Amino acid sequence: MSGLWSLSEASAQVGGEILGDGSVVPGSLCIDTRTLQPGACFVALRAERDGHAFCAQAAGKGAAALLVDDPQDLDLPQLVVPDTLVALQRWGQARLATVRPRAVFGVTGSVGKTSTKELLAAATGGWRTPGNRNNTLGLPEALASLPQGLGAAVLEMGMSTPGEIRRLTEIAPLDFGVVTVIGTAHLENFPTGQQGIAEAKGELVAGLRPGGAWAYHASDPWCRWVTEQPWARHAEALPVGEGEAYGWEDAESLGAAGERFRLRTPRGTVPVHLKLRGQHQVRNAALAGAIAVRAGYRPEAVALGLGAVEPEEGRGRLHGLAGGGWLLDEAYNASSDSILACAEALLELRGGEAVAVLGSMRELGPGAARIHQETGRALRRLGLSGLWAFGDFARDYAEGFGAGALAFPDFESLRDEGTGLSAIPPGARILVKGSRYWRAERAVAWLLEHR
Ligand code: ATP
Ligand code: MG
Repeated sequence: MSGLWSLSEASAQVGGEILGDGSVVPGSLCIDTRTLQPGACFVALRAERDGHAFCAQAAGKGAAALLVDDPQDLDLPQLVVPDTLVALQRWGQARLATVRPRAVFGVTGSVGKTSTKELLAAATGGWRTPGNRNNTLGLPEALASLPQGLGAAVLEMGMSTPGEIRRLTEIAPLDFGVVTVIGTAHLENFPTGQQGIAEAKGELVAGLRPGGAWAYHASDPWCRWVTEQPWARHAEALPVGEGEAYGWEDAESLGAAGERFRLRTPRGTVPVHLKLRGQHQVRNAALAGAIAVRAGYRPEAVALGLGAVEPEEGRGRLHGLAGGGWLLDEAYNASSDSILACAEALLELRGGEAVAVLGSMRELGPGAARIHQETGRALRRLGLSGLWAFGDFARDYAEGFGAGALAFPDFESLRDEGTGLSAIPPGARILVKGSRYWRAERAVAWLLEHR
């Protein structure tokens, strides 16, 4: 029994007036008709476009109710509130406060949030925010469907500007946290540079309940900086790494079968066999495992949970190709750190030449060309022998990589030109990655069809 709220029950939490049948129980909240499931309550937000213009479409797709600030001339129950954004956030906040899971975990960081969230949810057997719902709209939207009777809730918390994570922790106060990495993503939004980013990620730590705890990599200098700030002192900081009470040891790649390591905790050291690939996933799993054990979960159960996580489409799924080749599908998104981490994972596989098919990266600000060049250079240094780059910064990737790199302005030329995808040598190990905008999954689809 998930015990979700009827429209009347929700109005008791968020205010507003009901038009029509208040006993209807929406299966979820939805702010975008493109992802609307039948039975959902469509939330009409006023953003760049006015969501009220999509209410009829939502009704056509099977919405069970509407959350609006302006009554709609439609035959659907409606909750009419002064401000739909405020109501959406209160709905999610009140749902979490009412359901009261045994432990609420938040995960943030420049990279690895979704991976670590999935690992932590599996380690604790908990509920998690689905997909990438990690902002001030997606998080409350997801929380509205939080079922009753579960132990843990694991929430991904993302940010692109200061203050966002603070707001997320107001909606969802945390008992435990993980900061995966403090890197340089969204640097252009932070006039105070790297310290500004560390402060913004640190909002997750500042938002922990007194007596809460958070895990980070002992080697991450900006996380260590966070531990020294007055606003972080109320929470227990758990460094994870060598020589610490929590850490990992004997990490070993099993090639296509994943990774093996031993998770060390004050409650015992347990073997873990991950189906995810790459040392970066070992690092994520060690953080997830550490905080789960600190929260009271048994190390053996945590190890089993970590080992059950399967890579998803676009996020590390591996395909065997004819002639002994491999395709590592990381098409979902790309940053410099994640490209290099995934290239190392590619090199752990046995096979022919190691090459990458890369769409450009976005949101890098004025340093974009340089970052593409550096990424290309680093890939060559790691030992990749070929690079097929496409998109607006393809030439910069290729320039950094040097001989063996080709640049294409767009996916169509990458697909159609004789030097494009068809020129990748048979039996190669291929990493495909790129920012969401460039939809590198098109290259995955092409390669799966033609190899
Ligand atoms: P987003 O900002 O899109 O929500 P995210 O922080 O949720 O990203 P993931 O989706 O887990 O991150 O991973 C994004 C990419 O980064 C994937 O290619 C993944 O393999 C890689 N990655 C995951 N964890 C790490 C890490 N600790 N270090 C480097 N790369 C990582
Ligand atoms: Mg994510």
